[in-house]
Amino acid sequence: MTDYHKIPSVDKLLQTDGIKELIAEFGRPLTIDILRSTLDQIRSAAREGKSLPPTNSIITQTTRKIERWVSSTLQPVINATGVIIHTNLGRAPLSKSALQAAQDVALGYSNLEYDLEKGKRGSRLLHAEGLLKKLTQAEAALVVNNNAAAVLLALTALARRRRVVIARSQLIEIGGGFRIPDVMAQSGAKLVEIGTTNRIHIEDYERAISEQPIKLVMRAHRSNFEIIGFTTEPNLEDIALVAHAADIPILDDLGSGSLLDTAPYGLGHEFTVQESLAAGADLVCFSGDKLLGGPQAGILVGKAKLIAKLKKHPLARAVRADKLALAALSATLLHYLKDEATQKIPVWRMIAAPLEDIYDQAEKWSRALGQGNVILGESTVGGGSLPGKSIATYILAIDVPKPDRFLARLRACKPPIIARTQDDHVMIDPRTVLTEQREPLLVNLQKILKVPHE
Ligand SMILES: *Cc1c(COP(=O)(O)O)cnc(C)c1O
Repeated sequence: MTDYHKIPSVDKLLQTDGIKELIAEFGRPLTIDILRSTLDQIRSAAREGKSLPPTNSIITQTTRKIERWVSSTLQPVINATGVIIHTNLGRAPLSKSALQAAQDVALGYSNLEYDLEKGKRGSRLLHAEGLLKKLTQAEAALVVNNNAAAVLLALTALARRRRVVIARSQLIEIGGGFRIPDVMAQSGAKLVEIGTTNRIHIEDYERAISEQPIKLVMRAHRSNFEIIGFTTEPNLEDIALVAHAADIPILDDLGSGSLLDTAPYGLGHEFTVQESLAAGADLVCFSGDKLLGGPQAGILVGKAKLIAKLKKHPLARAVRADKLALAALSATLLHYLKDEATQKIPVWRMIAAPLEDIYDQAEKWSRALGQGNVILGESTVGGGSLPGKSIATYILAIDVPKPDRFLARLRACKPPIIARTQDDHVMIDPRTVLTEQREPLLVNLQKILKVPHE
């Protein structure tokens, strides 16, 4: 028989210093709730013959449980993978000014929907719009929750119950459940596939347009894969000639949507937002947190008439951008306007990081650890941008007996470190490790490798 009466009562425990401290820190209701559940557990363990724990162990168990409840599950990690826009790791880190801008409007009230000059209601859509128009030369702009929402809104507002032409080579799935045919179905637009997986000719567009009433021509960036070999696709200028002759607008989903040329960084030339508009796209959409390097957002730029239709559609309200994103986006766009994107926007700073600096960092770590080789490797842009392209980098390759176990130990660090293995080596790419994370990364590596450090 268990001595249930020996289990201290809640009232008794409330008198202990340990529980009093918990109440001071976490509040009475949560502390009592968790304390009760700890006691319940002890009772059922006792029923199975387990011995009763001492009072201080009850308090420790309760503390640990409370801490588990209040610790956020979403936390910063160190990205040592060398994948710059890592979708699983939160895509683009924000610039300091973008963060500051979001914080400024978050902590208090703002003129989100208030016209300061006129002293009356304004539009939240105005804030980033001016900057987007200036940067891209577009007639109008609209910011929504993300690019998936931008595509859905554009298709719904412009082509519901109507036909939309798209090349078979662009019927993509970009992950996370976003598939062009499904989004098309959701919008109510009717998909008209043309060409083949590898070859599309301008005649395919001409034929589709002459055979049936078409409301919109869509292009979608292949984002995360390449088609190589016997392939052809007409360029946007030629598609625009054909579509515009029939008075049909073109929607270009650029996915990542770069405002800068990627060629100087060894990534090849990526069709920019400005180039798409200049080539004849009537509406271009892209993400805020891929190559733009800002917050999660879906950005639409293009013809004023089309943007106006989108703004008026009821779905626009359901997918609208929030004020923190709008603040951070404006600050990010300002970096481009001030021609300081490659110095201030983390994603671009990583892309543009000089190879010597990366080598120096890897060397420094290797010296401090007394192990690991610095080897030439490749960083990628990731995040559904620039498939098949990579940037030369230097990697710290550490030879350990059980690389996968080592990775698990890195993930258990505070903050967690995410790395990868290759040829049985743990690979640490300095390119994606933020400046302020270099020291914590080294200290954790020293701990795991049991290297003495001061
Ligand atoms: C990433 C991507 C999207 C979705 O953008 P989100 O901002 O993640 O919603 C849509 N289309 C293409 C081509 C993409 O690459």
